[in-house]
Amino acid sequence: MGKHYDVVVIGGGSAGSVVAGRLAAETDADVLLIEAGGWDRNPLIHIPAGFFKLAQRGALDFKYSSVPQQQLDGRPRPTPAARVIGGGSSINAMTWVRGQAGDYAKWHEAAGGIGEWSYEDLLPRFAALETNNIFSGAGHGVDGPVQVSWPPRINQLNLAAVKAFQELGLPFNADYNGRDQSGVSITQNSMGNARRSSAATAFLHPARHRTNLTVLTHALAQRLLVTGKRVTGVEVARFGRRQRISAGTVVLSAGAYNSPRLLMLSGIGPEAELAKHGIPLEVRSEDVGRHLQDHPKVAITAHARGDLGYASHTRGMTMLVDGLIYLLTRDGPAATNGIESVSYYNPLDPVGTPTVGTYHVPVSAAMGAKGVTATPGLTFENIVLQPRSRGRVTLRDTDPRSAPLIDPNLLSEPEDLTTLIAGLRYARRAMRMPALAAVLEPELSPGLAVDGDDQLAEFSRRAVSGMAHPVGTCRMGADDDAVVDPSLRVRGVEGLRVIDASIMPNIPSANTNAAVMVIASKGVDLIRAEQRR
Ligand SMILES: Cc1cc2nc3c(=O)[nH]c(=O)nc-3n(C[C@H](O)[C@H](O)[C@H](O)COP(=O)(O)OP(=O)(O)OC[C@H]3O[C@@H](n4cnc5c(N)ncnc54)[C@H](O)[C@@H]3O)c2cc1C
Repeated sequence: MGKHYDVVVIGGGSAGSVVAGRLAAETDADVLLIEAGGWDRNPLIHIPAGFFKLAQRGALDFKYSSVPQQQLDGRPRPTPAARVIGGGSSINAMTWVRGQAGDYAKWHEAAGGIGEWSYEDLLPRFAALETNNIFSGAGHGVDGPVQVSWPPRINQLNLAAVKAFQELGLPFNADYNGRDQSGVSITQNSMGNARRSSAATAFLHPARHRTNLTVLTHALAQRLLVTGKRVTGVEVARFGRRQRISAGTVVLSAGAYNSPRLLMLSGIGPEAELAKHGIPLEVRSEDVGRHLQDHPKVAITAHARGDLGYASHTRGMTMLVDGLIYLLTRDGPAATNGIESVSYYNPLDPVGTPTVGTYHVPVSAAMGAKGVTATPGLTFENIVLQPRSRGRVTLRDTDPRSAPLIDPNLLSEPEDLTTLIAGLRYARRAMRMPALAAVLEPELSPGLAVDGDDQLAEFSRRAVSGMAHPVGTCRMGADDDAVVDPSLRVRGVEGLRVIDASIMPNIPSANTNAAVMVIASKGVDLIRAEQRR
């Protein structure tokens, strides 16, 4: 066995950066962080508009794709997964959303009412993360490590969209991260001073100089070392060399695709799945890889009447000029992530809890694996906030370098499709309200002729993809089948915790980064409490 560390964190993403950074800064523990990608040096990470280019190139991504989605149209779907320090928080769209109190009530219920997982319990943690540049007072923080701000500018298409949803009857909500999510709002973003505020910039970089923190980049954890019923270390490959590292505690923060994969490669998982690949069973845990959830997303689009929005800013001289303006003034189109407004609503009940979210993207097509179609226009990306469909992550083979088999099983529950179609109808009505009708051509995709339930269902099955919010594959719960207990300890084995998106029992009605960072901050306190004992 090689060198010994008190704590080894696998994965330096949204959760792992918080865990490693805080443990190094707040304790004397010798901490090792193992990250498959490199440091977050690419300047596109830090410039807000760089997000579009990063997503188009996929340079900092594992480039996974789902298994063919037979319940849809048989095609696989892109399943982005970050591979860089900061993880998703380094490449995501930066929208900062907490979700609904009811989401966390379900976490509290899953935890059997123990371990402080309710919204009231977690609210101080959400607040403590933030330096909020918009709000203060109860529920918001003013001196936390993550900068949270409104976009520095709002383009004409998003302003019109905000107005159009109000014309439709949805009230303006200044703060969707307050008690009530419902309404049309300006987005809150994990940005400050026109720069991305990631888990890495907030937690890891400030701890980098510490002698008790070692960060191994370009290092792929291959499997956990299990001795009896205790995890004693990790096997890592780096630049073609394999080494074994001994650990007092291992924290698995490799994300909702790779945390369950690493557990299975280490003999912790469903018996039949391990047997299929000839992996000796160390701990039987049937829910490893199960309960995969993501927000299904379907876009509708229309061309703009004129060069509105940011399409012409995604290429050529305009983009270069934007870059210069940004360098000189920290302002201009490059200083925004482009997603400057959002609506949360219940399309079937105007005063009900929101079941659909619509992101207002001021270009004519949704983000996809091949990037955006840069035609001036507006895209409404509509998502089901509390999907019921459940998918699964399994092993392709036993090669630690292989991609997992990812089956998001999107829209497999009929209720998700019903909610989505109701949302599409609501969003397309907003597009026809006076404020948007004045600046948009008639709907381009799917087009108003596609209107019946069957037609919209067929369109949705073709157009749907996940939001890149995978969760649930190492679910937390008080029941014996849960992968981790309410203290995030893996059941059936000592010395191992999972702390990342995979532990969520149910997906929050929100983009998932803020919730992951809250889980990580709680995870640090759980580890510290154990160290003190
Ligand atoms: C393209 C995209 C856009 C998104 N947009 C938003 C948004 O606007 N707002 C929002 O709130 N959320 C958004 N999300 C979701 C959010 O960023 C994620 O939920 C969150 O980052 C997940 O955190 P995590 O720590 O669980 O995993 P990750 O942040 O993915 O971290 C996992 C880390 O583990 C590393 N790793 C994996 N396997 C190994 C291994 N074997 N050895 C070593 N290292 C390994 C990976 O390289 C990665 O760095 C987006 C995500 C993506 C991908």
